[in-house]
Amino acid sequence: MLTNYVYKLRPNQTQCLKMANWIDMLRSHFNWCLNDRITQYNQQFIQGDYCDLKTRCEACPLTSSVSKSGATGNPWKDSKLDKEGKVRNPRRSAGDIQITALPELKVARPWYSGVDSTVLQQNVKRLDTAYKNFFEGRGFPKFKNRSNFTSFTCVMGIKLQGNKIYLPKLGWMRFYNSRSIPDGFTVKACTVRKRQNGWYVSIRIEDKSVPEYSVQPVGEHPKVIGCDLGITKLVHFSDGYQVKNPKFSTNKKAKRTLKIRQRRVSRKVKGSKNRKKAAVRVGRFHQKVSDKRQAYQWKVANKIVSRNVDVIALEDLNVSGMMRRCQVKTDWKTGRFLKNGQSRKKGLNRSISDAGWGELISKVEYLAVKQSKAVIKVNPKHSSQECRNCGHIEKSNRNGEKFICVECGYHEHADIGAAKTIRDRALEIVRGDSAKLGASRLNAQKISVRSTSKRTEFGNPRNRDIKKAIS
Ligand SMILES: [Zn+2]
Repeated sequence: MLTNYVYKLRPNQTQCLKMANWIDMLRSHFNWCLNDRITQYNQQFIQGDYCDLKTRCEACPLTSSVSKSGATGNPWKDSKLDKEGKVRNPRRSAGDIQITALPELKVARPWYSGVDSTVLQQNVKRLDTAYKNFFEGRGFPKFKNRSNFTSFTCVMGIKLQGNKIYLPKLGWMRFYNSRSIPDGFTVKACTVRKRQNGWYVSIRIEDKSVPEYSVQPVGEHPKVIGCDLGITKLVHFSDGYQVKNPKFSTNKKAKRTLKIRQRRVSRKVKGSKNRKKAAVRVGRFHQKVSDKRQAYQWKVANKIVSRNVDVIALEDLNVSGMMRRCQVKTDWKTGRFLKNGQSRKKGLNRSISDAGWGELISKVEYLAVKQSKAVIKVNPKHSSQECRNCGHIEKSNRNGEKFICVECGYHEHADIGAAKTIRDRALEIVRGDSAKLGASRLNAQKISVRSTSKRTEFGNPRNRDIKKAIS
């Protein structure tokens, strides 16, 4: 089993400075590598096949670093032939090439030799992961700045002893040993992260003899609970139970504190030490809010999972789609911008991000697997507008928390009704599966595959009415 434990570090002043310095260097290296890959990719359109000056090798679109398996420079890993006369390890990836170029980097910029070599390698691998995500359709890698590049990973030479950890080139460092690592687990890697109130280390530990949590198959008549996520109340269950939403960053008190602290920053002289101190206080407040939210979400997730059920049905939400900005409207005559309702949407977007549905869902999924319960994500389209009595779908069915069908007059609490609809849709998925396959016992994995195909059937959730989905 592979898992991560997080501890707070207690570095001394030299180590603090060193780590901050490393992060600065690694960030610029990351950005350099990204820029390198972009320019290499663009070159092929200008020249077609060309000779790479750095490596003195021919490169062409096929060997370009941004094609999925290709590379620039010397495209071959080693030209030795194996017994059958084929080239061993034929292609090198862009990541491989950038890793082999690291010694050259250290010669050109000697200060980089202060950073541990595995840390530099992992830095390149981080870019590889970013590209992998891009090829899977999740956006092009971004250049990093101080605020979104705060960690580094090392994989070799880590030692643990009581409440001390040894990191290569940083030395022994104490940490708050808040939970002990179970026997038999070995340290695989560790990631050091800078947060507002100090440094944290996430230790990746593995024990191959302990099996991973596996998803148990669902029986023929499973007990299903439906959950409807919202803003006024965080969760509504299909059995009528509700979980309140404390709105950690959008309640009145938090908004006021944040406003005051931000104002204190803006009234201090730019570039001054006092301004920096005030900015740290803003950052600490943000961290406090996020810590509170995390803790609360674990509580709620536990509450959801500890229900006496076999299957938990959740909404398949597209949160970033809901938080998209309103489309720009321009006057076709003058080209001036018209009102598009974005200022109204802004408040809603803040509430959505404050609720943190995506985080909550992933926590529920994690805990559910631990207790061998299945999680099914269903399409939430029209879940709170559909009449549960006659099936009539209309926007005017719903008025705030009340649901009154305009066709048949059926009435109930709108969100609890939505949760019931979600439960029924999940049941349909379970039953539809068992009917189609003719099997009494099903693998939960199969169910999750089917539920994703269901999603496309219902239509693209991005186009759905946002207001309905948050209710
Ligand atoms: Zn009705």
